[in-house]
Amino acid sequence: MVDLSMRFDGQVAIVTGATSGIGLATARLFAARGAAVVLTDRRASLGEPAAAAIDADGGIARFVAADVSDPAQVDHLVEETLRYYGRTDILFNNAGISSGGRFWEQPIDEWERIIRINLLGHYYCARAVAPHMLDRGGAIINMSSVLAYATLQGLTAYTASKAGIIGLTRAMALDLADRGVRVNCIVPGSIDTPMMWEGKDRSEVPLTIQQEAAEAVPLGRVASPDEIATAVVFLASPAAALITGAVLIADGGLLAKIATKY
Ligand code: NAD
Repeated sequence: MVDLSMRFDGQVAIVTGATSGIGLATARLFAARGAAVVLTDRRASLGEPAAAAIDADGGIARFVAADVSDPAQVDHLVEETLRYYGRTDILFNNAGISSGGRFWEQPIDEWERIIRINLLGHYYCARAVAPHMLDRGGAIINMSSVLAYATLQGLTAYTASKAGIIGLTRAMALDLADRGVRVNCIVPGSIDTPMMWEGKDRSEVPLTIQQEAAEAVPLGRVASPDEIATAVVFLASPAAALITGAVLIADGGLLAKIATKY
């Protein structure tokens, strides 16, 4: 009988970019489903209270500060995870940034910073975690975007990073397939987080812009971070035991729709 309980008691999940948006929602959901969660982010001032709030709700959580674009900090994150909990079963590679500008005008440093955080950050975290999952099982879930498939003007670095994550997912899945570790990737559309509203909270965004964003989605709404968290938890669970190297599109139908009639 397949275990459809979506419980993770006794397992340890690392969630990057966990002080906000999708990462925070997913950390909370893993904790609510019994996992011990290591929240990590570069913003310690938000991370400590986020982990404390999960603890106060009866979950098991710790915060470890790390910038995913620095391999030494990532190695420290995994060492701390093993020191606290003795194992690691799930990695949700979620941390990411976005900034724009036409590619020939954007400073090279900024372009490279986006690739370093979004793409290399995924690699550094998976590289540090994988040796501790080999032959005993594990799941890595990477974070892409619909913009990997169809993008917007002025987003070359973000688009390249998110398309790269799809290739990285497939290649890592093959490297780990005979060692009991699954690697998959999630492709969200428009999700109600600060990133969606260019750093602002939704309440500060004019209603007309919110409506326009909702109407662009075939399901008619900007989704909540919890709706991505459920997809991540599914990919981490035994219900997804056959799924590796896959891309799970959770976009309310955005990619199914062509933008113009002509
Ligand atoms: P968010 O801005 O709320 O969260 C991003 C988190 O990543 C923040 O907590 C931030 O502090 C952290 N972070 C950024 N750089 C970091 C670094 N170098 N090291 C460690 N942590 C770092 O945005 P979100 O929407 O929750 O984004 C989460 C992921 O989802 C991102 O990878 C984003 O590209 C992706 N995504 C978001 C949407 C959307 O509509 N919101 C759509 C598709 C994909």
